[in-house]
Amino acid sequence: MKILVLNSGSSSIKYQLFRCADWQSIASGLVARIGEAEGELKLHWLDANGQPQARQASLPIPTHEDGIDQILRSLCASGALTDVSELAAIGHRVVHGGATFAQPMIVDDDVEAEIQKVVPLAPLHNPGHLAGIAVARRLFPSVPSVVVFDTAFHQTMPPTAYRYAIPEFLYAEHRIRRYGFHGTSHHYVAKRAAVMLGQPLEQCNLITLHLGNGASASAIRAGQCIDTSMGLTPLEGLVMGTRCGDIDPAVPIYLLKNLGLDADGVDQLLNRQSGLLGICGVNDMREIDRLAADGNEPAELAIGITTHRLKKYIGAYYAELGRVDAIVFTGGIGENSAVIRQRSCAGLARLGIELDADANAERIAGERCLSVSGTEVSILVIPTNEELEIARQALATVAAAS
Ligand code: ADP
Repeated sequence: MKILVLNSGSSSIKYQLFRCADWQSIASGLVARIGEAEGELKLHWLDANGQPQARQASLPIPTHEDGIDQILRSLCASGALTDVSELAAIGHRVVHGGATFAQPMIVDDDVEAEIQKVVPLAPLHNPGHLAGIAVARRLFPSVPSVVVFDTAFHQTMPPTAYRYAIPEFLYAEHRIRRYGFHGTSHHYVAKRAAVMLGQPLEQCNLITLHLGNGASASAIRAGQCIDTSMGLTPLEGLVMGTRCGDIDPAVPIYLLKNLGLDADGVDQLLNRQSGLLGICGVNDMREIDRLAADGNEPAELAIGITTHRLKKYIGAYYAELGRVDAIVFTGGIGENSAVIRQRSCAGLARLGIELDADANAERIAGERCLSVSGTEVSILVIPTNEELEIARQALATVAAAS
């Protein structure tokens, strides 16, 4: 059997097909520019001999229904999928599950309605997910659709971590609280860290750092999330590619009152023009690493602010956890940037956090341990794989239901 994972956005759908027997990814790709005059279809797959193949096409893709239909057609044409009956489930990534969903769910009308209810909390994401879910259910009624939420892993946070110090009615009536995101990634790397540490996840205390274009940190006690850096939306917390992360909440008010910006202008400024891009004009960490090494001061400052913030979160989560078995770096930056890892962990030897400089500098891919041997806190690099985690959770959910 196989699992198809869909990440359906407002105008694109990314997909990946897994074989359940060995969790091999046998095809992946995307449809993009849905609704435009000329859409785009990309497919990568492994042929019968295990050789990588690719196909790309431009064609009109007027609706999400056409997009998913094209995905299925091209998967079948490539031989990656023989027939829809081979699918044990379709796993859908959903960014926001509000406080309702702490687990993946098989979609029925009630689940769809609940996802609809949290659209105001994720207006850029949940409508696209809902479009993909509705089409998948309509086109393939015999294949269970399973939703896996970015927020679910963080639902174990206590109120002391998820409540803001604002009037109670804002929480009770408007659901304004911290939710956290990237949960599928934090959960995946936590499970892998437990394997690397040789301990059951239920005994592991971890600080997981997902550092990509979006970035978030989580504190995990005994395998469960007790705190995370993103909040009501993915804007809070660490410095990101174009998002500011933590700032004084009075800054938006100041912008509204004194710079003549409206709410959309502030939203745009803090979500799309801030972070690394705002500090140094570039949001690609590879380029920033190069510029800083050449003495570019704004690039150096961007790395400085990013790692200063990371170190604050490591310290805060260390204090919350009391004992830390491992710090895990993941995401494009966490997996690849030796400078970011080095400066986030520098000066923390008294806490048992010590990077092996040679291991950290080595340019190798894959899971690895970078801490000085014999130190208390393992420092791990674990490439994340959110699609695989969604596929596994989708199968487990379907299996548990039957
Ligand atoms: P997304 O959140 O879009 O999935 P990724 O996890 O792919 O993002 O991370 C993207 C970030 O990773 C970019 O800032 C990119 O520059 C950075 N990155 C990728 N490769 C490297 C590298 N070799 N060195 C430093 N940064 C890297």
